[in-house]
Amino acid sequence: MGNQAAIRGSRTQALPRASQKFPEGRVCESPGCETRLSTYNRRERCWAHAEMKIPRLRGRKPSAENT
Ligand SMILES: [Zn+2]
Repeated sequence: MGNQAAIRGSRTQALPRASQKFPEGRVCESPGCETRLSTYNRRERCWAHAEMKIPRLRGRKPSAENT
């Protein structure tokens, strides 16, 4: 019960900034691409050139609909 004051005091504190900022003015690493990267984007390339495996979340089984 004696900790109420401490709880109240920390209540106003904002969440720690987890987002890392990156230097401004970075552009896509892909040659010829001048897409600016966000300071919050930790990739070296824009979304169009980022090498990422996109999971097929919306993928339907083609054979299921083929009757
Ligand atoms: Zn790019």
